Amino acid sequence: MPRLKLTFDPDPLLRKKNQDVVLPADAKIRQLIDQMKFACKKFKGIGLAAPQIGRNLNLAIINLEPYDLPPFSIINPRILKTSSQTENVEEGCLSIPNLFGLISRPAEIKVEFYNEDNKKIVMDLDGLAARVFQHEIDHLNQTLIKDKWDQNTVHKVDEAWKKANRARRKV
Ligand SMILES: [Zn+2]
Repeated sequence: MPRLKLTFDPDPLLRKKNQDVVLPADAKIRQLIDQMKFACKKFKGIGLAAPQIGRNLNLAIINLEPYDLPPFSIINPRILKTSSQTENVEEGCLSIPNLFGLISRPAEIKVEFYNEDNKKIVMDLDGLAARVFQHEIDHLNQTLIKDKWDQNTVHKVDEAWKKANRARRKV
């Protein structure tokens, strides 16, 4: 399995338009999904969007270990509805190493996406799941956390901080 390399800000691939995946997903896309799942776990991310490994496709992996879910792909995802109620939560990003900052986002969302079996899924999400979906869908719309976070809250983290804050995972 070829190894995937992460793209880091300011790589222009993170700001390039992403194309919808042609459905049903062919063998090449399925192989890419398997590689991305592997990479997401390896990089210890709770999410990984295709542009983060240099592929400009509307495709991301969600890896919600706290929910005891195996990593799964979201293909051509769209946010259908957002709550007016927001939450201010600290976020990091694999493409912007070692920086965290507070980001305000809708607390609840309704999303639509396709799974690997070409099935359309509609889900209502809150908490960490709503957060990680919004972060990944932002990537697919060329938006990074540094465009949104409260500059006054941005701080560097080191290994000790990471160990003490396991819940604050990169996406
Ligand atoms: Zn990210």
